[in-house]
Amino acid sequence: MRPRNLGDAASLGKWVVCCGWPYVNVNPHLGTLTQLLSADIYARYLRAKGEDVLFVSGSDEHGAPIEVEALKRKIPPRQLASQNHQLIKRLLKAFKIDFDNYTRTESPVHKKFVRDFYARVEQNGYVHSQTVVLPYCENDKRFLPDRFIEGECPYCHYPGARGDQCDNCGRLLEPTDLINSHCVICGQKPVLKESRHWFFDLPKLSRKLAAYIEGNANLPENARNFSMSWIREGLKPRSLTRDISWGIPAPFAGAEGKTLYVWMEAVLGYVSATKEWCEKSGHPALWKAYWQEPGSRNIHFIGKDNITFHTIIFPGLLEAAEQGYQLPWQVSSTEYVLFEGQKFSKSRGIGILMEEAIELEDSEYWRYALTSLRPEQKDANFTWEEFERKVNTELNDVVGNYVHRTLSFVQTHFGGRVPTYDRSNENYEKIAETLRRETDAVDTSFSQFRLREAIDQVVNIARSGNRFLNETEPWKTYKQSQKEAGQIVGLSVQIAGTVGVLLQPFLPITSSKILKAVAKKKQLGWNIAGTFFIKSGTRISPLDPLFHKVVSTGLRDRLTKLRSIETSEVQV
Ligand SMILES: [Zn+2]
Ligand SMILES: [Zn+2]
Repeated sequence: MRPRNLGDAASLGKWVVCCGWPYVNVNPHLGTLTQLLSADIYARYLRAKGEDVLFVSGSDEHGAPIEVEALKRKIPPRQLASQNHQLIKRLLKAFKIDFDNYTRTESPVHKKFVRDFYARVEQNGYVHSQTVVLPYCENDKRFLPDRFIEGECPYCHYPGARGDQCDNCGRLLEPTDLINSHCVICGQKPVLKESRHWFFDLPKLSRKLAAYIEGNANLPENARNFSMSWIREGLKPRSLTRDISWGIPAPFAGAEGKTLYVWMEAVLGYVSATKEWCEKSGHPALWKAYWQEPGSRNIHFIGKDNITFHTIIFPGLLEAAEQGYQLPWQVSSTEYVLFEGQKFSKSRGIGILMEEAIELEDSEYWRYALTSLRPEQKDANFTWEEFERKVNTELNDVVGNYVHRTLSFVQTHFGGRVPTYDRSNENYEKIAETLRRETDAVDTSFSQFRLREAIDQVVNIARSGNRFLNETEPWKTYKQSQKEAGQIVGLSVQIAGTVGVLLQPFLPITSSKILKAVAKKKQLGWNIAGTFFIKSGTRISPLDPLFHKVVSTGLRDRLTKLRSIETSEVQV
């Protein structure tokens, strides 16, 4: 277990940091990484501040897409899910996404939690059943929900629309909406057959949910407006069950052979993953403190297409359990990341997969570029040229160069010890004031969940450090007065130290290199940022250059080469 309470701030309470769970039929791309990364940065920030935080997630494994894919490959769904779960775990490690618990929806803790939860929700009167007419394949002897059926979209007439959605026009569909539909397993035309299904009575919670949304000042304006208009239009019961085998058996009386709809069970993983962490760490009842204790907070980093799931459906479920759950305190949604002006699409080869990205460049470069491109107000456009510009002119020239030139100067001119600096220097108060102000600005951006702005501000601190060195020119002053040059360099080291502390949530490897050099520590508490914490006389360890420059054309070529190797391997 990690050391808790690293920082020196008075703890505000318990936090659970959540992000959308990676679905195991998709090989995750940079858009997915943006969500994971946002949550990771926030969790690291809270930890550095000394908050009591759990960062949990897991692989979302059940449902028709996996069962269909497994049938096609003639392997059990669990085998397919496990393979992809392992791939995602490797990628999380490579990008330094530091979960306290990364689990999976096949975890026994999750399955039991979900069944108990829904049994309770049913007991509380929020579940009812109804007979519905659904497509059924007489050849395969099974109902055809979601991706088990394909046909023509009734709206745009795209021929390959699926039972849950049309990929061409994006509309959500019911299996019976499709024109000329067929079973995806055998291709035969289905018949219609009655089946009993269970539903979550969301409309019953309309007033409570409206009060929650209107009363939660943290929710961003767009999320609030969008959710309230949903409620005003009238909430509808949500389907809870499916006639498929790959999922969690529904706990309702008479629902034998049916499983819970994947969306409606995976979302409870936020709670069950916390519970699993608490069990593993020997405090099985502690999870309630993270989810039900007044003052505990759960916060969510998601894409904009998932807002109502986190402002209405998930809070609705928590309310229906009637166990005093704290509803989402913050739902930070982002717009889309485009790749060279287009939406990511694996089938069309648009975008970069996480596993390709890590082959091309170290995680720190991706963490930097994606955070500083985070689509907070509008869609962001990733291009190789923009990646090159950000890495070369911001990360390398500003941050890397500033820290390296300062610490190298200590090595070459002051025998590796921080020279004497004190208030007698005219720059002392000015630097102290700048550091305090800039550090406060970073905190303000974090409190508003503006991570892009926060990382820009850290770069700005390094930029002001470069400006300070260029104006004071200690390499010239040194020739007349070593003492005077020492004052400048001593102050400059303080700026580098604060940059090291503030980079911790964003660039964990870089920040730990800086902090090891100036303080012999891999991590430091957040509240030390903005102070002059590196005393005169401190021995500074030598530090290699932090970054290298990249070339956009070279990266593009290497990606093409990587893909041609992958393709030839597949053909073999
Ligand atoms: Zn369509
Ligand atoms: Zn069939």
